[in-house]
Amino acid sequence: NSINLAIIAGSASSEHDVSLRSAQTIIDALQASHISFTPLYLDKNNNLLLIESNNYENLSPSKSVVLKKHAMNEHFLYDSDGTIINKIDLVFPVLHGQYGEDGAIQGYLEILGIPYIGSSITASAIAMDKELTKIYLKSLGIPTVPHYILHRDASIPSYNTLSENLNSVVLFVKPARCGSSIGVSKVSNQEELTIALQEAFRHDGKLLIEPALNVRELEIAVLEDATSIQASSAGEIVCTQGFYDYTQKYDTSSSAKLYIPTQLNSEILQQIQNYAIKTHKALNCRHLSRVDFFLTGDNQIYVNEINTLPGFTSHSMYPLLWQHAGVSITDLVSRWIHSVLA
Ligand code: ATP
Ligand code: MG
Ligand code: MG
Ligand code: MG
Repeated sequence: NSINLAIIAGSASSEHDVSLRSAQTIIDALQASHISFTPLYLDKNNNLLLIESNNYENLSPSKSVVLKKHAMNEHFLYDSDGTIINKIDLVFPVLHGQYGEDGAIQGYLEILGIPYIGSSITASAIAMDKELTKIYLKSLGIPTVPHYILHRDASIPSYNTLSENLNSVVLFVKPARCGSSIGVSKVSNQEELTIALQEAFRHDGKLLIEPALNVRELEIAVLEDATSIQASSAGEIVCTQGFYDYTQKYDTSSSAKLYIPTQLNSEILQQIQNYAIKTHKALNCRHLSRVDFFLTGDNQIYVNEINTLPGFTSHSMYPLLWQHAGVSITDLVSRWIHSVLA
């Protein structure tokens, strides 16, 4: 009676495509392991479908399915005629952004009573919201980048006012609850600001405006299992042009350089690893998170943000940092399964 893991990917999130790439990387790894899994697809209307080909990148027509409680602690996957397809013991939502990383799917799984890998509703919701995350981190004494909050219906300050308030001529505009740099822009005048706000408001009704910092970009992968919480070594992102935007994250031909691990003064490394674990614990995250940092020339550390379902594509920082430490994707998933079912 082996354990069966359902993978859910896709969704109506703006990170739909990234999720499919993450899920493909994970199932490619699991296929060579003893872990049995069922790949499920939430389509762009959030309908649940069964993927019969083990292929998220070339989606063939797939049938509509339903996850339901069958008996106490027993869940099955049914087709639309109500016929049982198979047993599901737990779910790994390999979803990024809206619906998957913000507590929505977690709430759905809680209602069904199905155990799942990753953070619960509240932790997911707080971590997804960059404003709420900063409020939490400030209360813990963890430094964050100064910011200005702008709601859709509020009056919009001019570029000059924002620039003065944030003490910077170059600014970052970002949606409060998004990922993969979608809707993020760097601006240095009124005209660019107007365009950036319009773009960011397409993705969220709440935005953050921050000074653009001239910094090193570092990331720590946090791994929690049944017995411990560990911080990885630090990965560094170096962009030769612009910032770490969608193209540099996912387009192999124009990607940013990743240094895994990067060279770092040991005291700084220890400090950011401490901050990463402190952040993960304070938000009550579970199993995995990737904490993104900025490091200034005079060694000021800022936590930029935390991701509760970081990218898992073949060139994503989270799996690469653990691979470097000798922990494969299969090892990661296997530890989380044990920790969920413990
Ligand atoms: P993801 O979830 O994929 O990591 P995201 O969409 O949540 O990304 P951020 O990580 O906050 O967004 O920002 C995306 C990128 O924009 C950063 O990796 C960095 O390159 C740049 N960036 C964001 N804010 C700043 C800032 N204040 N100063 C300098 N660069 C910034
Ligand atoms: Mg993020
Ligand atoms: Mg993200
Ligand atoms: Mg980030």
